[in-house]
Amino acid sequence: MTKKILVLPGDGIGPEIMTEAVKVLDRLRADGLSIEMERGHIGGAGYDAAGKPLPDETLRLAREADAVLLGAVGGPQYDTLPRESRPERGLLGIRSALGLFSNLRPALLYPQLVHASTLKPEVVSGLDIMIVRELTGSIYFGQPRGIRTREDGVREGFNTMIYSEPEIERIARSAFDIAMKRDRKLCSVDKANVLEVSELWREVVVRVAKDYPQVELSHMYVDNAAMQLVRAPKQFDVMVTDNMFGDILSDAASMLTGSIGMLPSASLDANGKGMYEPIHGSAPDIAGKGMANPMATILSVAMLLRYTLNEAAMAERIEAAASKVLDQGLRTADIYTEGTTKVGTAQMGDAIVAAL
Ligand code: NAD
Repeated sequence: MTKKILVLPGDGIGPEIMTEAVKVLDRLRADGLSIEMERGHIGGAGYDAAGKPLPDETLRLAREADAVLLGAVGGPQYDTLPRESRPERGLLGIRSALGLFSNLRPALLYPQLVHASTLKPEVVSGLDIMIVRELTGSIYFGQPRGIRTREDGVREGFNTMIYSEPEIERIARSAFDIAMKRDRKLCSVDKANVLEVSELWREVVVRVAKDYPQVELSHMYVDNAAMQLVRAPKQFDVMVTDNMFGDILSDAASMLTGSIGMLPSASLDANGKGMYEPIHGSAPDIAGKGMANPMATILSVAMLLRYTLNEAAMAERIEAAASKVLDQGLRTADIYTEGTTKVGTAQMGDAIVAAL
């Protein structure tokens, strides 16, 4: 059956990197991948086209699509708009409208780029971690929250860290499913020595594990996990964790690879529908200059193929093509080192298509 992909280029470098990702999809379509692509506006582009960062038409197309491929949103020209009209609102809006609760953030280091990392090559070479972060619950959304003044006149701020059993169960299942598609090792990260919410988290994860006997499950406290990520990151395959812990750990993990222009991400719902996007932003400082690295977006296409379309072989073809162009010595400015060949956005996209 033909699958529908909604393409949302967004702002800044978004349209430039998306052009290259679409070239890759067109090439795979010529090889038999059965897809249809629609286009929509989001972020500042949504505001310019329809007066809001998530136009109704975009949301309608997103609901109909099997997967959404997004570039990036944001730009200085939108920073003075009222909060509800700002580009980032479009992103939060589409995530919550589609119920995308499972955020997949890989940290994969290509051996050719080992010197881009701030860590020693022997610590990070071969690194391939997947962090599964719960995206719609916990302390970022929990009620009650606020800032209040106590009877003694002292002000206090408060938030609520809360997870229901079904919320924990669905993110655990999502993580076990992903572990099954990888090396079948899952580390659940919590703070069960201090927090009741983590106690419940651990109990539910252990229960879900019974349905996945092939996956080796371990548990780690979040403070130790932060330390282990920089001490010996290669011990991890898949990590699953709460929204806030995942926010922090996934940023730390992505920086182990040293190259923001290389890292894709996915956000999935309970049925495998997903939104796929690079982890970087709209890079207004280099927008329109043809120098942005399109690889994070192209590798997001690989994730889309693997996790929504179940086309693992095509996903591997893209990843192998990306690796091949790095072997050829081609580098965009963000990953350039002496002795390699500097190329622009379109040249990099063309080289990956050729390597496919
Ligand atoms: P950014 O990720 O856009 O840029 C950070 C730095 O990395 C910049 O120097 C940029 O040139 C560089 N960079 C980013 N992507 C690159 C690529 N593909 N190739 C080469 N270099 C790249 O983060 P920022 O500067 O903090 O934010 C800029 C705008 O993006 C803001 O409006 C912010 O709100 C928005 N933003 C959007 C998202 C998103 O759409 N998911 C994420 C983060 C930030």
